[in-house]
Amino acid sequence: MYPDERRILMTPGPVVFSIDTLRYMLSTVYEHTSLDFALIYGEAVRKFRRVVGARDGVPTFIIPGSGTLAMEASLVNTVKPGSRVLVVSHGYFGDRWARIASSNGYDVKVLEAEPGDIVGEDVIVGELSKSRYEAILVNHVETSTGVRADIEGLARVARKFDSLLVVDGVSSVAAEPLECSNWGVDVVLTASQKALETPPGLALISMCTEKALEAYGEASKNVKGFYLRLSEWEKVMRAYEEGRISYYATPATHLVVALERSLEKILREGLENRVKRHAALAKTLRAGLEAMGLKIVARGEEIAANTVTAAYTPPGVNPSELRSKMTTRNVIIAMPLHPALRDKSFRIGHMGSVNANDIISTIAALERTLKTLGAEIELGSGLKAAQETLVNLNL
Ligand code: PMP
Repeated sequence: MYPDERRILMTPGPVVFSIDTLRYMLSTVYEHTSLDFALIYGEAVRKFRRVVGARDGVPTFIIPGSGTLAMEASLVNTVKPGSRVLVVSHGYFGDRWARIASSNGYDVKVLEAEPGDIVGEDVIVGELSKSRYEAILVNHVETSTGVRADIEGLARVARKFDSLLVVDGVSSVAAEPLECSNWGVDVVLTASQKALETPPGLALISMCTEKALEAYGEASKNVKGFYLRLSEWEKVMRAYEEGRISYYATPATHLVVALERSLEKILREGLENRVKRHAALAKTLRAGLEAMGLKIVARGEEIAANTVTAAYTPPGVNPSELRSKMTTRNVIIAMPLHPALRDKSFRIGHMGSVNANDIISTIAALERTLKTLGAEIELGSGLKAAQETLVNLNL
């Protein structure tokens, strides 16, 4: 049950956590009504704002929950029930936006892309010109296909049509470029287990613009239920930032400590360096896969994500057999999620502390595995291309 061999985890979350992060997390029991803990929490909130490029002091939340909770909480606290919302969907997690919105009683219109593509700006503008939408809901990176949306461009469009832009950054924050306040991205949310390199269990949200503050001020007053009322959580967040103790529901104390350490590490690397590193490794992986003869799901380099790559399996290779044979070689890859890609693709996550050696090992294991599964693969073809890319990038 517990693997005793050293494994390379190449899934799009959870990712490998640094020993340092885990060491702090386990160093003591953090009592949530202690001043020490309040100070750590306050630091985590401030550092998270810097990572997403949110202005100082804007309402920012770190609460127990997963990415899905962050999506739901963001929506119900900024958009009034019954409003029309436009979901720009690039796959499985875009469709999740639609399901969350429908189940909360919003009037939902979905613009859907072909698997591997993104919805064109002209299509979005066309829809917004026809009808008024209170909000646009989109994923920055769609984890099921490995595509990245043009969030900066979408923010301009949203502003023009006076729609609130709510961005799911679960697979992008801390690995793709993002400056939410400067770009005019109103609301950004994410979860701890991806490029933030923290164990699963935290939902994070920032209200980045004036428009978001207004929308939140209005909608959060009428949130039904109890746990998702961000206006109540805000009192706790403010108290922690001011070094005071407060309580609404017990925070995930150990995870917050791990997150604060991880955010420190991320900011020490520098956001620009970090994005560059992710982009370089993603490019290396794609070069290797393509040289092996595999087709990348993302239709074009400019929309291929820094954090996750989906690729089609060669004819005759079953994704679940591929994953299980890769696991016996101690490289863990992910299964397809997009309904249209289920029996014919696989996914590789490359975010957080992933380095060039991980990419090379993954390509090597993939070449061997596909070869033994009967695919026509020339051993070394992917490795050669990946190595050349790394040499060209001086890595
Ligand atoms: N959005 C995206 C883009 C995701 O990749 C995921 C999870 N992989 C989610 C939302 C949902 O997050 P969670 O599983 O933490 O609820």
